[in-house]
Amino acid sequence: MNISEYIRDINDFPKHGIVFKDITPLLGDYDASLECLEQLVKLVGDKKIDKVVGMESRGFFFGTLLAQRLNAGFVPIRKPGKLPASTYKEPYSLEYGMDVLEIHEDAIKKGERVLIHDDVLATGGTARAACNLVKKCGGEIVQCNFIMQIDFLDGAKKLKNYEIATLLNY
Ligand code: IMP
Repeated sequence: MNISEYIRDINDFPKHGIVFKDITPLLGDYDASLECLEQLVKLVGDKKIDKVVGMESRGFFFGTLLAQRLNAGFVPIRKPGKLPASTYKEPYSLEYGMDVLEIHEDAIKKGERVLIHDDVLATGGTARAACNLVKKCGGEIVQCNFIMQIDFLDGAKKLKNYEIATLLNY
């Protein structure tokens, strides 16, 4: 099965000129989503993972499934003001302006082995902020794992100290 058939392009979303990769058809199909999960698990290989970190919000879907399959816990990284306990905060740049991501300070123990997961690696700003948050907690980043990578945006450049694993390249 080719999972790319379940990812559709939406033109001019969220803004004019942007082609948005939409994974909702993939999520909506049992066989395709199971195949995607199996392929993501294969990318991790036999690496031991203690925590899977998923970014709000599309990183939560396969992030939680991956955590179950890898016998790991799941840790959400969220937009400001959403997490209830004490958080570390990391600003990052968007196409226009800045935003902040947060993680619970006690979500990852020092030395725990962490898999970062999101649906899309675009400019890499989100994933790099996630890596910085994991490091603030004392975690060790084992792999940054994505369903797809938008090559021309060169997000891998922002993650050059980390292993990157992706199922699809656009
Ligand atoms: P980056 O920070 O530019 O790498 O953007 C990655 C973040 O934006 C991820 O959390 C993605 O979920 C989201 N994102 C960027 N482009 C797309 C897209 O085409 N489809 C779905 N999500 C996207």
